[in-house]
Amino acid sequence: MAEICSQYNITVDYDIDLHKLALIVKEGHSINFLCEGCNNRAIYKDEEGRLYIAKSEKGKIKLHPINFDEL
Ligand SMILES: [Zn+2]
Repeated sequence: MAEICSQYNITVDYDIDLHKLALIVKEGHSINFLCEGCNNRAIYKDEEGRLYIAKSEKGKIKLHPINFDEL
């Protein structure tokens, strides 16, 4: 079953609420998920509390900084 995150399209029914994950992920940790819409794979929070989205690009995982407001 395909799962879609809230960053992919907030207007459709989504299964993965990134806003909610951003609130619960602990500093220095990540939460893995699989979005079939935009290839997002995880949300990560560094020790300073900055948020990143891990995205699969050409078979590699890349971290993209993201603001909480963008989720
Ligand atoms: Zn997504």
